[in-house]
Amino acid sequence: MERSRERRIKGLGVSPGIVIGRVFRLESGGLSYSARRIPHTLIPLEIQRFHNALKRSREEIAEVKERILARGLHQQAYILEVHQQLLEDRMLIEETENLIKEKLINAEWALEIVLKKITEVFEGINEEYIRERKGDIKQVIQRLIKNLAGEASYELEEVEAEEVVVVAHDLSPAETIQLNLKEVAGFATDAGGWTSHTAIVARSLAIPAVVALGEITASTQGGERIILDGTEGLVVIEPTEATVREYELKKQRYKYVERELLKYAPLPAETLDGYHLALRANIELPEELPLLSQYGAEGVGLYRTEYLYLNRRDLPTEEEHLQVYRKIAEESLPHWATIRTFDLGGDKLPIQLGAIDELNPAMGLRAIRLCLKEPEIFRTQLRGIMKASAYGKVRILLPMISSLEELRVTKRVIDEIKEELERERVPFDPDLPIGVMIEVPSAAVIADLLASEVDFFSIGTNDLIQYSLAADRSNEGVSYLFQPFHPAILRLIRHVVEMGHKRGIEVGICGEVAADPLFTPIFLGLGLDELSMNALSIPRVKKVLRRFSQEEGREILREVLQFSTAREVEGFIRNEMVRRFPDEFIRCVEAEA
Ligand code: PEP
Ligand code: MG
Repeated sequence: MERSRERRIKGLGVSPGIVIGRVFRLESGGLSYSARRIPHTLIPLEIQRFHNALKRSREEIAEVKERILARGLHQQAYILEVHQQLLEDRMLIEETENLIKEKLINAEWALEIVLKKITEVFEGINEEYIRERKGDIKQVIQRLIKNLAGEASYELEEVEAEEVVVVAHDLSPAETIQLNLKEVAGFATDAGGWTSHTAIVARSLAIPAVVALGEITASTQGGERIILDGTEGLVVIEPTEATVREYELKKQRYKYVERELLKYAPLPAETLDGYHLALRANIELPEELPLLSQYGAEGVGLYRTEYLYLNRRDLPTEEEHLQVYRKIAEESLPHWATIRTFDLGGDKLPIQLGAIDELNPAMGLRAIRLCLKEPEIFRTQLRGIMKASAYGKVRILLPMISSLEELRVTKRVIDEIKEELERERVPFDPDLPIGVMIEVPSAAVIADLLASEVDFFSIGTNDLIQYSLAADRSNEGVSYLFQPFHPAILRLIRHVVEMGHKRGIEVGICGEVAADPLFTPIFLGLGLDELSMNALSIPRVKKVLRRFSQEEGREILREVLQFSTAREVEGFIRNEMVRRFPDEFIRCVEAEA
């Protein structure tokens, strides 16, 4: 009997669901290819693929060299000659072919191994000329891999028959949207946390994901069978047949629970005593719009527009902004479409603005600070949003506001644009509401002052927690300090809600805690007006909401505010939920024990 090669790695489940599929390795640095095993019969075709890529690479280099020589740049042309010689190198070619034949792997994977081997040999040689050649070899191999991408992959059908799990160290927002997300069935990453952007995108697209696995990339080469359980936060590589059967059953059970929950999607988001809490969707991409009606969202509570700017060299035009926002506004009717102005900077670096080299990007030139520093880019977006307001119920949401001055300057820009549009006789909603994200502690503290000058608040707990508790939201090392139940956070939220309501404006939450059903009774007790979350979580939150009265929520809140630590708060609320929903919450408690 063959020995079991099954490996289990525990991580953090950030988007629920089970996938049984194959590993697709995504190397960081932009070049993405899948490392695959190939059947014996396809060896000649794979070698042919490799030779086609060699030919194309030679042609490319010859072309560039010709252009360079025509400009008299002989020194630079010499480097290309070295690349030409490398492309003829017998060792490189034979070694790659042998690996394809003997290990039954695709050409990309074979080249990656060749590169590793040559680099190791060169590493031991302490001579500058040789060290420089190491860089050349890397460039040549990268060119070959790039050109292999243009070659039809003969094994594609076989792979497509199975689900694809993307395995990577971490995924930047730019890399995530580079993927053809329709073909991705799951994500597994070494790094990341609940609020990292991979997690957010995965949840909003209903793709199961496990992050913080630590060693998933080191444990896979690509092409292996994999089970990903986003609910439990577990990954099984090369599972045995018995494990596969066990997970097939689990998958069916999960689908059943999901179907049951979906029954809540069309029902009103109301408590037993008739208190209505609007449940809206957070979206990153317009592709998510169909999820709104599927999961019962009352419009969009947060559209993260920064994704419009990523992964492209130019900037979106006013017309492009208008078309995207118009679609969102129309599809959200009769509810609000809340468009947040771009929150670029931090981990979402726009190449159009050049590199921003900062020691501490989370506290640097991001969000509204960058908007105000780049007024033309900001105005283009604002004009697009305001023009879209003629087609639905559009609200503007400003990220990272930290002071009243910042808000006032922004409102002045908005007023100027209103005048412009009036002069141009372009239709727009002159009363379109303007709200601020409360996600910087200073904004929470001066909520009374801000509330007098805006139409609504949306509390961004992801950042509010990270800044208030000084715990980087994407740093695994301090994730134990990122405590949504921390009394400081509960007090800050309570203060913001009270100040907002005192001034008669609506207050919502759009951070990830909005989707956590453990928080639902607390938010009820606080009297929040809106919770905005990934669409997928809406049915479960709605189910919980419909089983409480607001008065019960207030009682729970009173109790919760008595505790002095996050642990006590969470323990109390879990017990309370287990009592009321034994089937749904019992597992979390068992897992804790
Ligand atoms: C937040 O900070 O809570 C939020 C919703 O914004 P983002 O996650 O995009 O920073
Ligand atoms: Mg934020």
